[in-house]
Amino acid sequence: MVMPSRIILGTMDVQMVLLSCRCGAQIEVPLPILRQPFAGQDLSSADIPSVVLPCPFCKHLEVRGRESVLRVQVIDNPDLPDWYSGDVWLGCGAEGCESPLPLVYGWSVSTTAEEREADKDIWKWDRLRCRNGHAIQKPEDW
Ligand SMILES: [Zn+2]
Ligand SMILES: [Zn+2]
Repeated sequence: MVMPSRIILGTMDVQMVLLSCRCGAQIEVPLPILRQPFAGQDLSSADIPSVVLPCPFCKHLEVRGRESVLRVQVIDNPDLPDWYSGDVWLGCGAEGCESPLPLVYGWSVSTTAEEREADKDIWKWDRLRCRNGHAIQKPEDW
């Protein structure tokens, strides 16, 4: 199922997923954004896939998925950031390990390109691990 990106920009109800971070923060992401990288794969309609998502508060990148979900709620016409979903895929590179996971991130629409680059520079990659505990490195061209 392909979720057109305009679904996040419209005035319709959006299913928002509230994910937990170890720092105590709650990260709100539209479900269609989490699912967008997997368009064309056979996800069931309620499935929440695993993605790599930075915490906007502590800046740690971690794999977040179903086990990080605090709740899912429908919000009418939410104030949504600009989301980037699935343009970068990250993996540990270990032989025989699972396939890469998409990077999903967003900023408030009012942030400038410079502010976004500066934010990316302070993301913390040290905690990022695949399901098997291998470190996932920051891409060289990041
Ligand atoms: Zn955090
Ligand atoms: Zn691995």
